[in-house]
Amino acid sequence: MQVYKFGGASIATTERMQALWPIVSSAEQPVVLVVSALGKTTNALEAIVEAACKQDKQKAHELAKTIERQHMDYARMILDEKHFKEAEKALNVFLTELQWAIDDASTYDYTYDQIVGIGELMSTRIFAYYLQQQDLNVEWVDIRDVIRTDDTYRDAKVDIKYSGEQAKAKLLPLLQSGKNIITQGFIGATSDNASTTLGREGSDYSAALIASMIGATAVTIWKDVEGLKNADPKKFPNTVRIDAISYHEVIEMAYYGAQVIHPKTIKPLQNNKIPLYVKCFLNKDIKGTVVMDEVSSLFYPPLIVQKSDQVLLKLTAKDFSFITESKLRDLYNIFHRLNIKVNLIQNAAISFLACIDNKGRKMDELIQELSHEYNVSDNEGVSLLTIRHYTQDVLNDLTKGKHILLEQKTKHTVQLVLM
Ligand code: ASP
Ligand code: MG
Repeated sequence: MQVYKFGGASIATTERMQALWPIVSSAEQPVVLVVSALGKTTNALEAIVEAACKQDKQKAHELAKTIERQHMDYARMILDEKHFKEAEKALNVFLTELQWAIDDASTYDYTYDQIVGIGELMSTRIFAYYLQQQDLNVEWVDIRDVIRTDDTYRDAKVDIKYSGEQAKAKLLPLLQSGKNIITQGFIGATSDNASTTLGREGSDYSAALIASMIGATAVTIWKDVEGLKNADPKKFPNTVRIDAISYHEVIEMAYYGAQVIHPKTIKPLQNNKIPLYVKCFLNKDIKGTVVMDEVSSLFYPPLIVQKSDQVLLKLTAKDFSFITESKLRDLYNIFHRLNIKVNLIQNAAISFLACIDNKGRKMDELIQELSHEYNVSDNEGVSLLTIRHYTQDVLNDLTKGKHILLEQKTKHTVQLVLM
């Protein structure tokens, strides 16, 4: 039993979806396919939410019409008459849901989750009919019947225990009877049956969760790159592909800003020792990368991640009191309450530095709160560079001509706030 995850780029066009057939048909069965929305559908649905919540219902409905047309055209192109008729019926159910959600638009986050997940529901319906047309024994599953979450809309937390029981009750019997499954990434539902989403790019995480719940032997994420690289090729020259890498290295890279895999993906895999393969859907024969447990023979080139849009905060106690443990606790309480991610800190007797994600509006609130006890200065538009397994050469090269505002080094890792 294994899980394949296909992202939006892999099904952006009907040609792309057709090109996945050799990958799916040569997979060791049964396989669970966890799939994102077509291409950039999620962004388009976000625009509908914007309009609906600004009470521009007419615009929201117009945008919804475009999405309807795109999905119907796509389905008509890839399906024969018989399968298209069935797909049309299935898509219309979700398109009606979309209309209602626009009409009922209320708070932003709640409305977002009722609307945006429809992309995944529609793409998987089309893909399912296509695979059935190819004679694959596959069943479409609405993952909202399996993944139970709380009601933190847009960043819902999964109830692992309940969802695990549902997965065993609803997915395992299908798989054991020899059926393959196609289902959605990114979405879940609350105990009141409201739809939820797990955060942008959350389908990787869904695939890992489902794999851990059904006891899959492996997860493969199919991407448009040839595997994991030691740095983002869009930002750095001379990158190299990594054959094998540990869960620990990947989770650190993802946490500090590498956009390769959703950061939450690794934990369920590591906890269940399920290997993760990252492979290229454009050429399935390229070896790709395997993410697995630490083995001593793993060798790493310098692993480089850059996180942009950071703020470096500098606090100095106004009354010259020491920044003690209890002061640190108070500071962290403020960060926690405002949901601000702290990526790097350094403290001294009466001062405290923190590199944090820039959160727009929340920054003013933060600075206002901190100003009661501290003189606050902030450097916006800085970036956080993390290099694991660094060499002095690489470090020199990457900091040349840059202004280093903060540097922290351990034996294998260096982190720098740069301007
Ligand atoms: N379709 C969602 C997104 O674009 C989820 C995903 O692709 O992982 O964020
Ligand atoms: Mg995606």
